[in-house]
Amino acid sequence: MKIASKSEILELLSMPYTEFCKTVMKEAKEIYRSNGNILKASGMLGYSNVCKNHCLYCGMSAGCKIPRYRVEPEEEIQSMEAAKESGLRRIFLISGEDPNYQFEKILEMVRGAKKLGMHVSLATGEFEREQYKQLRDAGADRYVMKFEMSDRETFNRLNPSTDFDRRMKCIEWIKGLGFELGSGNIVDYPGHTPEQIADDILLMRELEIDWAPVVPYMPAPGTPLAKEGGRGSLETNLREISILRIMMPDIDITAQQPGENPEDGLTAIDGNLNALNAGANLLFADLLQETLAKNFSVIGERKVKGVEHIRKMAELAGMPCEV
Ligand code: SF4
Repeated sequence: MKIASKSEILELLSMPYTEFCKTVMKEAKEIYRSNGNILKASGMLGYSNVCKNHCLYCGMSAGCKIPRYRVEPEEEIQSMEAAKESGLRRIFLISGEDPNYQFEKILEMVRGAKKLGMHVSLATGEFEREQYKQLRDAGADRYVMKFEMSDRETFNRLNPSTDFDRRMKCIEWIKGLGFELGSGNIVDYPGHTPEQIADDILLMRELEIDWAPVVPYMPAPGTPLAKEGGRGSLETNLREISILRIMMPDIDITAQQPGENPEDGLTAIDGNLNALNAGANLLFADLLQETLAKNFSVIGERKVKGVEHIRKMAELAGMPCEV
């Protein structure tokens, strides 16, 4: 199946779901199965949940009343060593945009991870080009800079402390420096139209992303956007995963997806398994201690478990696993 144009994407987004599962989803799964079929596993460490920004959908934005924390590089490197012992070879370092977490400390964590021989992904926000270059020179392999929504006006309304042009400039720098790029959208946030979803998908293709960290909108309690509508459609999210897999067979796509019960968070067995069967391939193990991890609350009900969960999902999906 060839999916190239906006009208073709729109057609697949509105196709009866049973038919979509039998045709499009089936083909997306087969594409991944015939292309190595490995379930990739990554450790994840949120080193700071402090953020200076005011994204209207985020439970960690500056105005949110949550307990804040910072973890020092030495402690994070110890966690990475333990992760390596458990079989993980990838690490994903994440944080809010924390102006008081010294940049040198981020470089220290990247160097520490590279010394352990790990593939390093970062999602630590908007920086200047020179800083991205330092991160790249320190050995970071991949950088996640989501555009969140390709509609400029919506982006500027929901992200008042930055703007769409600045976000796209960061993405341009990241790509230009040779990072693998992780980027994508929030799926089915309040007011998100099929036309906009199709534009988001086309932008991911235009950016030649290496990883689609897509996830349905999961309202963070108390945020302004939570007043505008509830959780995004799981079905639309699975449709997007399959469309992306067919359009870009070699990229990574996040399988850490919610299921029917929102309380299961991102380790919902049904949610993860449905995503793997729709063509997704990447799962995470949260390495942060639970008391801190629950306050890394960018989305509502973010819960992520450890390596054992990944092994279990690999077994259920019938996929060979990296750990
Ligand atoms: S989405 Fe990211 S940049 Fe925006 S407030 Fe949340 S942590 Fe900060």
